[in-house]
Amino acid sequence: MGKNKVTEEYGSLLCTEAVLQDRLPKPTYRALMRVMKEGEPLDLDIANEVAHAMKDWALEKGATHFAHWFQPLTGITSEKHDSFITPKGDGSVLMTFSGKELVQGEPDASSFPSGGLRATFEARGYTAWDPTSPAFIKDEVLCIPTAFISYTGEALDKKTPLLRAQVALETQAKRVLTLFGHDVTKVSTTIGPEQEYFLIKEADYQARPDLVLTGRTLFGCEPAKGQELEEHYFGAIRPTVNAFMKEVDAELWKLGVPAKTKHNEVAPSQHELAPIFEQGSLAIDDNLLTMEKLKLLATHHGLACLEHEKPFEYVNGSGKHNNWSLCADDKNLLEPGAEPSENLQFLVFLAALVAAVDMHADLLRQSVASAGNDHRLGANEAPPAIISVFLGDELDSIVEALINDEPTVSHALLHMDLGVPALPDVLQDNTDRNRTSPFAFTGNKFEFRMCGSQQNLSDPNVVLDTAVAEQCDAFATALAGKEGEDFAAAALAWVKETLRAHQRVIFEGNGYSDEWEAEAVRRGLPNLKSTPDALPSLIDPKNVAFYEKYHVLNEAELRARYISKAEQYAKLINIEANTMVYMARHLYVPALSEYSGDLATSVATKAEIGIDATAERALTSKLTEGINAICAATDDLDGRNAETRAIEDPQRECDAYRGAVLPAMERLRAAVDAMEEFCGTDYWPVPTYNTMLFWV
Ligand code: ADP
Ligand code: MG
Repeated sequence: MGKNKVTEEYGSLLCTEAVLQDRLPKPTYRALMRVMKEGEPLDLDIANEVAHAMKDWALEKGATHFAHWFQPLTGITSEKHDSFITPKGDGSVLMTFSGKELVQGEPDASSFPSGGLRATFEARGYTAWDPTSPAFIKDEVLCIPTAFISYTGEALDKKTPLLRAQVALETQAKRVLTLFGHDVTKVSTTIGPEQEYFLIKEADYQARPDLVLTGRTLFGCEPAKGQELEEHYFGAIRPTVNAFMKEVDAELWKLGVPAKTKHNEVAPSQHELAPIFEQGSLAIDDNLLTMEKLKLLATHHGLACLEHEKPFEYVNGSGKHNNWSLCADDKNLLEPGAEPSENLQFLVFLAALVAAVDMHADLLRQSVASAGNDHRLGANEAPPAIISVFLGDELDSIVEALINDEPTVSHALLHMDLGVPALPDVLQDNTDRNRTSPFAFTGNKFEFRMCGSQQNLSDPNVVLDTAVAEQCDAFATALAGKEGEDFAAAALAWVKETLRAHQRVIFEGNGYSDEWEAEAVRRGLPNLKSTPDALPSLIDPKNVAFYEKYHVLNEAELRARYISKAEQYAKLINIEANTMVYMARHLYVPALSEYSGDLATSVATKAEIGIDATAERALTSKLTEGINAICAATDDLDGRNAETRAIEDPQRECDAYRGAVLPAMERLRAAVDAMEEFCGTDYWPVPTYNTMLFWV
């Protein structure tokens, strides 16, 4: 096979198993594999040898520093660079990297949000190597993926609970598989995150304080053209964007991130990048790297990459679909098989998922709640805030038949020995992609579509993994000791019972419709409309018990997460309100004042020489009224923001930001946008939607 640039460079900056195998003595390599694959504890001698091999490899690739790379509660990644140098005492240096430096780091944790955890435990944080995610080199820094925990063991980051949830799910899923007679070594989740983003000119971005400070436009009247012509989706990619995408691909490939698909999205200037799926926590690490590269590399092309969920009103916002499945060794457990027993196993996992989503809809909703995502969910461009599961015609008819105890279902199905309907091969192509569903079966995986474009996907996957673990646990416990036909009959009965108990969460219709909202209420499904509504589920005693049972998060950790998310929500809206007040007073009012002043002068001059200037006079009045309205709305927002910021209780503060500050922001925006329509272009202080969204 001939080599080419891509195959040669792919993974060249990734410290893969092959790299380590090449450089480590056999016994050390084997010991390391037991740590990586079987979760054995890491011995310091082994760590020293691994660190040495990693350093040699990194130095050959030009690295000068190393960094523990971690994901504090902000969701984005953090790193502090330390060089490899050790002075020898004679003015020269050695390049060193010890096992201790590999496995443990001590960032000054005091400046990361902890939701009060550090105060509670008086614990400093440390970072611990996650050997399941390979180290990589970024800008001459050897980055070691790590978890961030307190000295008393509390999770201070997004990754630790995910790793714990993955363990819980693996343990419970293996029990299920053992009952089916499968002895597997590894069960892991697979995740494929589809990342949406906008690209605009960097100069436009720099000229908009709202984009720079908050990531979204807080003002801007409707552009003359939006996405109504439906010409952007999958359209030809413009040369500047294409050059950018090529560089992103090349950089990601070097890091071993399997970037696969790129295309234009629905909104003007919106795009998407989807990788090939990988093991769960690795896929999330790679998504974070992808987001970082998108942002950084855009500047090489005079572009700014916007990852906010709603950078622009009037056109679609950006999400991140979380494609999720379960994999036992190499077999996808959500892939219906050809044999009845495989079908039965598939149906068990399917029922487990349906039940998991129904039982923990509140937590799932919470896991995607953020100030940014509140602008999308339920806004007829993204799934509603109500969680439901979409199965597609074929699977839905099978599930219906199981629920109603009907032996045969549709023409496509045969009634097989075990009483399990044979699942048609066409299942995969038959899922008619209901884009309005938050949680859709797409042939051999589920797609959770509520996630926000800028979020770290750990949160939703912690919920999913733990909730499915709980169902696997229930199944394995109920069926323990059963064998042969008894087992098959009992398993099928469990599937039916479980589907019956959670049927209410299955919905095949239009999730954007008002009828669904009413129907969901009748079904007793939660409809948590905004972040302040969704966050308290984190500290609901039933959810605390659920997470504690599977050792994913304890009560203190959950409370900390709740506080930290509430603080983040309040701080973000506070910054948005501050930015609006600043822009209104410093940019819009002066601009409108100048324009109306110039008009007034013109009206006066014309009056002197007897020219009728009725229209200009009316426009001057309109602009002056507009200025008055803007000033009043600004003062009102400023006042409400100050009052709200002073509230001590985090929940009350969030409620007030949502209830009092957001509406005041909307009023100020409306007042400014109404004037943008009439203000001369040369006077208007910032780039408009018409220019930002449509550039070449
Ligand atoms: P779409 O039509 O939604 O773009 P694709 O088939 O292109 O669907 O897949 C979207 C994403 O789903 C990709 O990132 C892909 O790698 C991922 N995916 C496919 N199979 C699985 C799986 N078994 N587990 C997790 N993700 C998967
Ligand atoms: Mg998709």
